[in-house]
Amino acid sequence: MRRSIQSRNTIFSAGLVFFSFLILSMLFSVVCFSYVMRDKQHMLESTAEVVADVAAAVREVSDLEDWELGLQAASISRATGFHVFICDDAGRVVVCSDALVSCQHIGAYLSSGLLKKSRTAGACSA
Ligand SMILES: [Zn+2]
Repeated sequence: MRRSIQSRNTIFSAGLVFFSFLILSMLFSVVCFSYVMRDKQHMLESTAEVVADVAAAVREVSDLEDWELGLQAASISRATGFHVFICDDAGRVVVCSDALVSCQHIGAYLSSGLLKKSRTAGACSA
């Protein structure tokens, strides 16, 4: 009888410790995931600002479909790890960071919802 109570207490304590570690690991995972996502979002916004600055500078001297802008977009893409698209006012992709002469993204249009969101909010991510 006495041994049975001790073994039940031991099992209960072990279960409590296991449950506590389970909750702690879940909270740690959530905190780490939100930190990584926030860091990635910040890096994406920084990259978008750099691309916008480069595109604005190139647009001063030539048009957005200049091949040199594509090379710069490819360099930025390689440095940051993000895919870079530059679109015209209608949402048509005019520059892609793919190092291909005829990329499949060139000429594609952004979805109307994404275009509307970027116009109203100033930026958006997809
Ligand atoms: Zn592409």
